[in-house]
Amino acid sequence: MHSSIQAIHSDFTADIAAVKTTAEIENLKIKYLGKKGLIQNLMKLLKEVNPDQRPAFGKEINELKEKVLHQIEEHEKQLIAKEEDQQLAQEKIDITLPGRRHSIGRKHIITQALDSILDILVGMGFSVQYGPDIDTDYYNFEALNFSSDHPARDMQDTFYITPDVLLRTHTSNVQVRVMEAHQPPIRIITPGKAYRNETITARSHVFFHQVEGLYIDKGVTFADLLATMQEFFKKLFRREIETRYRPSYFPFVEPGLEVDISCLSCKGTGCQLCKHSGWLEVAGAGMVHPEVLKNGGIDPEVYSGYAWGIGVERMVLLKHGVKDIRLFTENDLRFLEQFTHF
Ligand SMILES: [Zn+2]
Repeated sequence: MHSSIQAIHSDFTADIAAVKTTAEIENLKIKYLGKKGLIQNLMKLLKEVNPDQRPAFGKEINELKEKVLHQIEEHEKQLIAKEEDQQLAQEKIDITLPGRRHSIGRKHIITQALDSILDILVGMGFSVQYGPDIDTDYYNFEALNFSSDHPARDMQDTFYITPDVLLRTHTSNVQVRVMEAHQPPIRIITPGKAYRNETITARSHVFFHQVEGLYIDKGVTFADLLATMQEFFKKLFRREIETRYRPSYFPFVEPGLEVDISCLSCKGTGCQLCKHSGWLEVAGAGMVHPEVLKNGGIDPEVYSGYAWGIGVERMVLLKHGVKDIRLFTENDLRFLEQFTHF
């Protein structure tokens, strides 16, 4: 019996020296202290020992059990402390490392362009007015002097929802609404989307962004319109530019004109961007038609005004040399991330 106790003790000493983890120490507890463990087995053997010798062996077994228990506890404490140190070392924050850069989004180039355009025009004294994308034929066409047989009303160009309700084809639908609600002076810009039932190509899309300007007051002249255009485009493209005006026809202005600026790329000598003409078309404009003023409840004998409109996509095409308008709506980050500012 004594030799069995000694044998278990020396086995235990060897076993515990080999234990390196808290998981291993659990196995050791089961092996020596468990219900079916080696020390419990010794207790069972005690029954077979001569009754005279039982107290002495019982004492010896209890001493072994105490030793085993104590050594396991001490060893376990050390292992737990060691494992915590290792974990802390792994989790340690190195404050000398450079920070991780978070990728932040940015505004879409069209929104950046719109912001720039509105900043400039608000700085020039215009206030911003918004109108509905879905509107009636009256505000989009009739009030703006489009005759009932005007080609722009054709189903080919306009998305009709009902015979009388449509997706606006320009942001000019805001003009007469504002005139109805306010007496001059009126000095507004109307940014927003416009919709056309066209084939989608590199040059045209079914929707685009427009900003329109409208100024109505006593004594507003053609010279005011030209000066405003010159100043606006100079500020928008941040350079000296020349402007050129060609007669054109829009139902809601009289006279109407197209505004060209000297080419941003070649300054007039001729290049791909300006199709070798030296000039870029940038706006449609004109003096507000007297019929439109009347429709808005404004007396054309007393007041006059000018209106003009630009396509926002076109401004970006010209400024950044983008060749395909479809890129603006394809959400390809490789394209969009190139633009940090308009
Ligand atoms: Zn050019």
